[in-house]
Amino acid sequence: MEAQELNFHYYYDEESELWLLPQEMCQLGGCDTEILEFTKEEEAHKKAVELTKQGKTTKVGFPCPECYEDYLNG
Ligand SMILES: [Zn+2]
Repeated sequence: MEAQELNFHYYYDEESELWLLPQEMCQLGGCDTEILEFTKEEEAHKKAVELTKQGKTTKVGFPCPECYEDYLNG
């Protein structure tokens, strides 16, 4: 399965040196939430394929703590 066919995106985070796969998006700021972490790109890819095959997709979920705080103090 090619990356563009997947319902999930994953990327390398240089700070943590991990591959990150967000499963949800914060409804206020569009931030990545429910992030899965992998040490190897192929593991992240495998998980993205697995989730896509399960019919899942990145969904808009709860606001992340930072956005929720901004919202309350808004
Ligand atoms: Zn957010």
